[in-house]
Amino acid sequence: MTKRRMAIIGLGKIAQDQHLPVIDKSDDFELVAVTSQRGLGHGGVPSFRTPAEMYAAIPDIDAVAICTPPEVRHAIAIEALDAGKDVMLEKPPAATLSEFEDLVSHAQRLGRVLFATWHSQYNPAVDEARALIAAAGLRSLRIEWREDVRKWHPGQDWVFEPGGFGVFDPGINALSIFVRILPGSAFVKSADLTYPANRQTPIAAKLAFSSNITGALLLSADFDWREQGDEKWHMMIETGDGRSARLFKGGAALSIDGQLVAEAPSEEYERIYIRFADLLAERKSDVDAGPLRLVADALMVGKRLATDPFEW
Ligand code: NAP
Repeated sequence: MTKRRMAIIGLGKIAQDQHLPVIDKSDDFELVAVTSQRGLGHGGVPSFRTPAEMYAAIPDIDAVAICTPPEVRHAIAIEALDAGKDVMLEKPPAATLSEFEDLVSHAQRLGRVLFATWHSQYNPAVDEARALIAAAGLRSLRIEWREDVRKWHPGQDWVFEPGGFGVFDPGINALSIFVRILPGSAFVKSADLTYPANRQTPIAAKLAFSSNITGALLLSADFDWREQGDEKWHMMIETGDGRSARLFKGGAALSIDGQLVAEAPSEEYERIYIRFADLLAERKSDVDAGPLRLVADALMVGKRLATDPFEW
């Protein structure tokens, strides 16, 4: 089978940790070029400073994965679509909902495939949790997503700049699982957003949700970047029939009443690229705005709290 000719834009942490190694071993894709502002390269493929130079030099690139910070994603994605490329977007897919909607309609107009990835959804334990709730109903769900920003975003100042999402950068991963496993819609009712005095985005957020899900009484989320020691990426679920489930390890493991029922080594990005290959074969886009909408809503109804200045 001929492999799709793929390029990566932005060779930062996630490109290096996941996209490049996954493409290197993919049966569906081959890496043919990269764009790196800093001039980084990978595996001897040509490296360009800008996407425009890349598209001019290598016109037969089929698709690009945009792995930059979200603030610049819209312009880079529009340029890629206009150059005739199918596009995979790292999460969050854009800095705002209207930018994202514009990307969706632009891709549709041009007949290009657009894939807004939500990597945390690509875990078998998440599928199990969804099936459990569909069968047993939902009484409560409490998200705890707490990690040390210095460990997970060392020196990444953009996360604290406008459009950088702050603690919602990891929090949106939890929300992507949340929207996937809920049997209905949740609405942000309140949000306590804690901002360091010298930063533009929250370092912590506590959310309470209402929903249209029969029987679901308590839905909440606690995101915090000030956690010391091991990260806590889990959600506690009480089912409609009284069982206690825990989805943990970022969605990679599920236990029910203390018994481990699903755990697999993380293959989120392997599954993302398989999904992209399927979307390309079907010429279909996958563009769920749900997690981004919840973050936007939290920022709209949120109450601002102040805390100490943050320095790396
Ligand atoms: P990062 O390490 O800061 O990398 C982003 C890269 O994008 C930079 O290294 C730079 O690469 C390029 N870039 C930066 N500013 C740019 C600009 N103004 N225009 C064009 N390119 C620019 O960030 P990251 O952690 O990889 O995160 C990138 C995205 O992936 C974020 O949306 C994040 O939420 C998502 N993500 C991150 C992780 C993670 O574990 N870090 C996990 C999943 C998803 P070059 O110099 O090579 O161009």
